[in-house]
This record gives sequence, C-alpha cells and structure tokens, in this order.
Amino acid sequence: MPLADSKNQIQLVKDGLINLLFPEVCIGCETELSVRENYLCYTCWESIHLTYFEGFKEPSSLDKLFWGRVEFNATYALFYFERGKVSQKLLHALKYQFKGNLGVYLGGLTATKLADHPVFKEVQALIPVPLHPKKAFIRGYNQSEKIAQGISTVWKIPVIQQEVLKTKHTESQTKKDQFQRWDNVSSIFKVKGDLSNYQHIAIVDDVITTGATLESMAKELKEANPSLKISIISLALAKS
Ligand SMILES: [Zn+2]
Repeated sequence: MPLADSKNQIQLVKDGLINLLFPEVCIGCETELSVRENYLCYTCWESIHLTYFEGFKEPSSLDKLFWGRVEFNATYALFYFERGKVSQKLLHALKYQFKGNLGVYLGGLTATKLADHPVFKEVQALIPVPLHPKKAFIRGYNQSEKIAQGISTVWKIPVIQQEVLKTKHTESQTKKDQFQRWDNVSSIFKVKGDLSNYQHIAIVDDVITTGATLESMAKELKEANPSLKISIISLALAKS
C-alpha cells in the first residue's frame, strides 16, 4: 500500500474512532449525525425556511427594510430566523457554542447560492460586521468574520477586517433579546482604513432584525467613500 493511501486509511480509522467516542449530534434535535450530515440532520435542514431571495426579480422584504434609510446595491439573507425553531438554534450555536466552522460552512452555502447573481458577482471584498472587542474576547471569534471567510473561499475575494471599527457599545441594550440586541445597538462605527481600491463591497452579518447596525455601518462607509457601492449578505433575516 502506498504511503499516502495508508495515511488516509489511518486518518479514516482515527475519524471513525473520534466519531465513536464523541458522536456529532444535530444542533436542531440532538440526534446522532451520520457521516454525510453536517451540523444538522436532514429533517432539521428541511425545516429551515430559505428565503430564495437569490431568484427574486421584485424587491424582497429585505430590500424594502432599507428603503428610505440607506441605499444598498443588493441585499441577501439565506434563511428566515424563527424563534424557537431550528434556525434560532443554528444561530445560537454559531454565536455561543464555539462553532466557528459552522459559520464558515454556512458562508460557503450562501456564496454558492449567489454564485450567478448579477450584482453580487461584482463584489470585490467582504467586510464582516465588527464585534465589540469585549465580546470577541469572551467568545474567541467574530461569527460574521467566520461567515465572511466561508464566502471568501468560494468567491476568491478578500475579507477586510480592520477597515471598520465599532468604537462604542451602548450598554442600555442588554435587557433586549440576544438577537435583537445587536441589531438595535446604536453603534458608532469609525472608518479607519482606505477602501479606495474597491468599487463594490459587501457587509456580512449573521442575522438582521431591524437593520440598524447595517444602516449605521453603511452610512459611515458611504460618508468616507461616497462612490462606494455597498451590498449586504446575512445568514438570516428575522421574520417581521
Ligand atoms: Zn435534527
């Protein structure tokens, strides 16, 4: 047996053993996953309501959310966030259970859905919604950055991490629901880096509720770069 093959065999046995000792369970229903399932079992994947915005010819509810507030060249969310459903568990796992790779995985799925989109295929770089440094310290990673990494891998465009910085976080929002909280934060963003190399960027987020965070971030970016085209990509959109 060639060395590479035997190495693969060893890896397979290792994976099998690890799986036997620590079986991966579905984030949605906690049943054991088969080797072909990723993060969720088939049934739980099926229960997630996709938006299908990628095929919309008319403005979507997400487009309309920003009408009269800020202009985006294109907007996208992969699925609807629904309280008490699998979509909530998925986003919770991404934020709080150290499942950064889940973000990369879902980002990859999103990028694949938009591969032929006439507007999104012009996007040259991705800017993840920044996490407050304190949160990043506690959690260890920024979930939006993980999603952006997944998109970046499929589209082969860079993730810009240091250009935009969230400088202030209003503590008064802490009583709000964990998903509403971030969207409702009246954040102050400060543009640091030079974006003049780019004509079109996409801001990447995990879940959109009111859109306030994206609105304030986009306004700040536009003020510093008036001709910059901005699109947004989110994993989820809260159903209003
Ligand atoms: Zn399941």
